[in-house]
Amino acid sequence: MKKAIKTRFAPSPTGYLHIGSLRTALYNYLFAKQNKGKFILRIEDTDQERYVESSEKKLIQALQKIGLKWNGGPSIDKSLNIKEKGQNKPYFQSKRLEIYKKHAQKLIKSGGAYYCFCSKERLEKLRQEQQAKKQPPKYDGLCRNLTEAEIKQRINDKKPYVIRLKVPEKGIVKFNDLIRGDISINVSEIDDQVLIKSDGFPTYHLAVVIDDHLMGITHIIRGEEWLPSTPKHILLYQAFGWEIPIFAHLPLLLNPDKSKLSKRQGDVSVEDFLDKGYLPEALINYVALLGWHPQDDREAFSLNGLIKKFDLTRVQKSGAIFDIEKLNWFNSHYIKQKSDKELFKLCLKHCPDLDPKILEKILKNEKERLGTIAQIADLVKSTVEIAEYSENFLIFKRSDKETTVKGLKISLEKLSGLKKWNREAIKSNLEKAVSENQLTNGDVFWPVRVALSGLEKSPPPEEIMEIIGKDESLDRIKKAIEKLG
Ligand code: GLU
Repeated sequence: MKKAIKTRFAPSPTGYLHIGSLRTALYNYLFAKQNKGKFILRIEDTDQERYVESSEKKLIQALQKIGLKWNGGPSIDKSLNIKEKGQNKPYFQSKRLEIYKKHAQKLIKSGGAYYCFCSKERLEKLRQEQQAKKQPPKYDGLCRNLTEAEIKQRINDKKPYVIRLKVPEKGIVKFNDLIRGDISINVSEIDDQVLIKSDGFPTYHLAVVIDDHLMGITHIIRGEEWLPSTPKHILLYQAFGWEIPIFAHLPLLLNPDKSKLSKRQGDVSVEDFLDKGYLPEALINYVALLGWHPQDDREAFSLNGLIKKFDLTRVQKSGAIFDIEKLNWFNSHYIKQKSDKELFKLCLKHCPDLDPKILEKILKNEKERLGTIAQIADLVKSTVEIAEYSENFLIFKRSDKETTVKGLKISLEKLSGLKKWNREAIKSNLEKAVSENQLTNGDVFWPVRVALSGLEKSPPPEEIMEIIGKDESLDRIKKAIEKLG
């Protein structure tokens, strides 16, 4: 019987969920789902130096908000506690330290690993010598052949030690990467990797291999930056006598100018994108196309659509361009697809203090133009709120004080007489104020708009006035006239 497919997403909680990691998670999810397999979440938190407090919680929450579901691993419940579910608990590597130690001991017994007592100073000296000779840094194997008695003695003397992988002296490591094809590397290029550090913690290499094996992972889909580690992992699988999973290494993400993608958190953090009001469906659709596209070049996909269409073997080798414009396009595409009611609910979540009536009016006018949900807050600001402005700001650059006052007064008069308060009527009256009095748009539309918003850029005056209502609009224009008076 064919083994059931199982994939995993194994992030390290180092601060936030990178948009590239979301792609890794998504591809693992899609591949598992389309093969009726399982997808799990494992938190790789053994690197104490890189660990960022409570970032795993935010990371798990972000994945939940995006809408991915996993068959094993931690999740955040309603009271914001972490709960672990699944056959392979615990899913936090920091809770599995005994498992790693036990397996490292097994390797020592079988000859696949050895104790190394070399001091930091010796290793540093070795590194410098190798650097001077332009050789790659590599452990020279001094402790590879210590006798049992020597090892016992040093352990009794409480000498600090690490445990290293005993890389075979000769041979080639070969594997087939689903995306990159056949890869082979001579073992002479592989270092005797540290497996257990002197503080007793495992390194990533040991923990990842043990967990992937014990959790029954059949396909390892991860970022290209892990490709150089794969031969070490394969040697470890061989040392344990375990079946080697299938690997697929995803292309790097690049800026539009092909440089490596920015590391600035605000530009690449999924949590930040969600906070800014990007919709989960837009993020999923966009991220799915970073390095993959279907044969027919269709672009808009739901998560279920992706499960049907995604093809891991069609993922490209070359770097994928991260283009924020495209993400913005997807986002406004999905905003337009929302019903007015859905959009209203989402926006209210973003601006809970807003008067729902005003929100409804703004949405009616702005749905087509909304790039993200969070923009609604800016729109509200520029529509409803009035910024402090100076008297001179009311005067358009090709106008003067006197004409500006005239323009405002005529507008006030015309608008005061208006019975039906809607944007068409408001606009045509302002236009009449211009044409009937030999004024220009700069003498009327500019000062009226500044009087309403106090801003250099804002929606057109008729839109603002329709939303804030007649009394408030006339009031703001009167105040502007007083300012100039
Ligand atoms: N913990 C690694 C990371 O944060 C995952 C590497 C892997 O998938 O093997 O990227």
